[in-house]
Amino acid sequence: MLSSKIQDTLNNQLKCEFQSAYTYLSLAAYFEDLDLNGFAHWMKIQYHEELMHAEKIYTYINDRDGRVQLQALDSPKSEWDSPLVAFKFALESERALSAQIYEVVDVALGERDHATHTFMQWFVNEQVEEEAIFRDIVSDMERVIESRDGLFLMDRDLAGRQPQKGQEGPG
Ligand code: MG
Repeated sequence: MLSSKIQDTLNNQLKCEFQSAYTYLSLAAYFEDLDLNGFAHWMKIQYHEELMHAEKIYTYINDRDGRVQLQALDSPKSEWDSPLVAFKFALESERALSAQIYEVVDVALGERDHATHTFMQWFVNEQVEEEAIFRDIVSDMERVIESRDGLFLMDRDLAGRQPQKGQEGPG
């Protein structure tokens, strides 16, 4: 059984993961509009990953006999000044999400809820990976930004991203 404080915190985290999915779908739409289909594909895979994160939390709340409460999402940002600015925005969003996840871990420790603490470690580790991936792409983009060819080659490269195992979306 979840304490009401943990249940509220997890429901808020569930919203954050959906909000993050929404942001990535908006980024995908931005790149589609620029005909950077590889970037758009990459963002859509990220969108599916965030939906999977949300579902993980949904399942956990139910497994602990809690009650899932879905909340309203905010309209995501939809315009950026350049592809680089868009990717930097995504990196900052991931950093904010990491800080948010640490808060959930802090609440779990405060409530002495060791099951939730252990459950959240998967997210803590996932964020380390996410931030590293985004940082790498931002730094690659900073290198190629002067040349349109560079962006074109990166687009082809990002088009090759495969979903993680068990995360294949509806396509
Ligand atoms: Mg996530």
